[in-house]
Amino acid sequence: MHYIEPAPIADKENPLESMMSRFDEAVRILGVSDEMYQILKVPARQVIVGLPVTMDNGKIEVFEGYRVIHSTILGPGKGGIRFDPAVTLDEVRALAAWMTWKCAVVDIPFGGAKGGIACNPRNMSAGEMERLMRAYASAMQDIFGPDKDIPAPDMGTGPREMAWLMDEYSKSKGMTTHGVVTGKPLVLGGSLGRPEATGRGVMVTALSGMEKLGINPYKATVAVQGFGNVGSWAAKLLTEKGSKVLAISDISGAYFNENGININEAISYRDSNNGSLEGFIGASKMVAEDLLFLDVDVLIPAAREDVITAKNADKIKAKMIVEGANGPTSAKADVILNAKGILAIPDILANAGGVTVSYFEWVQNRMGFKWELDRINRRCERALKNAFDNVYEISQKHGVSMRIAAYIIAIDKVATTYKYRGGY
Ligand code: GLU
Repeated sequence: MHYIEPAPIADKENPLESMMSRFDEAVRILGVSDEMYQILKVPARQVIVGLPVTMDNGKIEVFEGYRVIHSTILGPGKGGIRFDPAVTLDEVRALAAWMTWKCAVVDIPFGGAKGGIACNPRNMSAGEMERLMRAYASAMQDIFGPDKDIPAPDMGTGPREMAWLMDEYSKSKGMTTHGVVTGKPLVLGGSLGRPEATGRGVMVTALSGMEKLGINPYKATVAVQGFGNVGSWAAKLLTEKGSKVLAISDISGAYFNENGININEAISYRDSNNGSLEGFIGASKMVAEDLLFLDVDVLIPAAREDVITAKNADKIKAKMIVEGANGPTSAKADVILNAKGILAIPDILANAGGVTVSYFEWVQNRMGFKWELDRINRRCERALKNAFDNVYEISQKHGVSMRIAAYIIAIDKVATTYKYRGGY
């Protein structure tokens, strides 16, 4: 074993540790061999690049860029690129492994990968962002490829950044290569339905969960932490199904309205206000963390990792948690939530709508053909519903949480595929 384990952190749970402890539990239940355990535990490839970028003030700043390909057993690496001040290699490793399990849970032929750069997009101009993304794409030109590793948006990046990446990669290869990245603008080979896909998956899995718990979606109350792409679409689509979103939040704070927030108004306000809800008058302000403890049917953490931890899990009153973000619940919090009987629909299932439609985008790019929106939405919803049903069935069969059931399905699929492919 040449893999250097990250040093254990005494008090704080980090995302990699949280991911590994669920992995360990699922592996124990599955009875996977020790060799397989080692194979799935170690990322296949980890690339670190230094990126000198000229900032608008004329000074050069050097950023560190990461790309971790956790596994290519099921297919080319797949996963987003995160631009966020808190990015670390450990976090990217955890997110890359989550992508492997996520793709396996929704049964799409991709492995798992993730990229990241520690930077603050909120303080960067469009020009600085462009130079940083192009430098990263150029440094990764031999890592990325439509049959090797296919990036996509994640926190802090979107269609604009994907267009720069696609352009830079295409230039380096001397040919236009649409399929190297997903989440592109429509005119550049992006897919209809991709922007709302993650939120759509959250909506589908939330409705499936409500059905299991006997909650009527027309009477359901919802709180959404994080009003970015995932949270706002999930809120919008759930309101369209009749549910009432009582609270939303973003970096500017949390907003509460007991009669239900008009989500379309909140989205328009955010879009006309530099991406922030600051000053939104359709709800009153509340203490941000208290949003997590509201007495609602459905809590949707759609911001970042480790917001529900051993320190606060006991205060959660929601009947169901649907994880729009990756890794919002720590492994220690899982134990508390399970004991309280709260149904947690795990990230690798709940937010898999995004990568599912990324897969459709990649298929369309390879076909050189565009699908219509209703076909995409139908297939996305079917994929997520099937995945939910499979995970639920396994959770019943083994008497485990939906999270562990999702890991069991994913690890079993990857391990079985590895056996067929073979190693050295
Ligand atoms: N960043 C998204 C996720 O975490 C999307 C990944 C993709 O479409 O490849 O699932």
